[in-house]
Amino acid sequence: MIGTGILKGMAVTARNFVGSYFEKDRLITVQYPEERSPLPENYRNFPFLIYDTDDPEAGLRCVACKICEKECPPQCIYIIKSEDKKPDYMGKPQFYAAVFDIDISVCMSCQICVEVCPFEAIKMDKVFELSKRERFDALLQRKNELAKSNEYYHSIHPIEAAEVDAKLAEAAAAAAKKKAAAAAATAAGSTSAPGTVPVAPAPPTTP
Ligand code: SF4
Ligand code: SF4
Repeated sequence: MIGTGILKGMAVTARNFVGSYFEKDRLITVQYPEERSPLPENYRNFPFLIYDTDDPEAGLRCVACKICEKECPPQCIYIIKSEDKKPDYMGKPQFYAAVFDIDISVCMSCQICVEVCPFEAIKMDKVFELSKRERFDALLQRKNELAKSNEYYHSIHPIEAAEVDAKLAEAAAAAAKKKAAAAAATAAGSTSAPGTVPVAPAPPTTP
């Protein structure tokens, strides 16, 4: 019969309209900004820089290698590498970004900067309420605004952040093992007499 589909659709609408006064699950809208829908794990907006420890300056993972700056398609990352080195969060002297700006009025949220960073230093944020009255300077995010803790990263992308932590821990363990092996080889070399040549063990004799 003509119009049956429309009547069925109206019945569903009416059931949900009336039901929404009694069952919150039937509501498909939220009273933003008082209420917010949870964002999915993979939601992304603009990049931010991660720091470890509780020091947003010394703890930044970024070593100003500038790979992200080169690869960013609209060229909205601007980095000035430091002249000197400072100890990073693990005490290792590293170059750092004296300036690190991202123009979010140009950024297209492509995530290429994240994919090319070898140091897991830049990730995508979920913050979207960034509108400003000024078109230019206000949308240029500086290093101090971009720096956010690893705990924050875990709070917005828990699965991804746990995978990154595991990867970094694995890399740190491999580096420590390599360093220990190199130190052991150096120590073994210094205990052998100068000019001696190691003698290969004799092959086993056949009966
Ligand atoms: S964020 Fe990563 S790729 Fe970009 S400069 Fe820093 S370390 Fe290099
Ligand atoms: S998300 Fe894309 S456009 Fe935005 S800063 Fe990174 S590489 Fe550039």
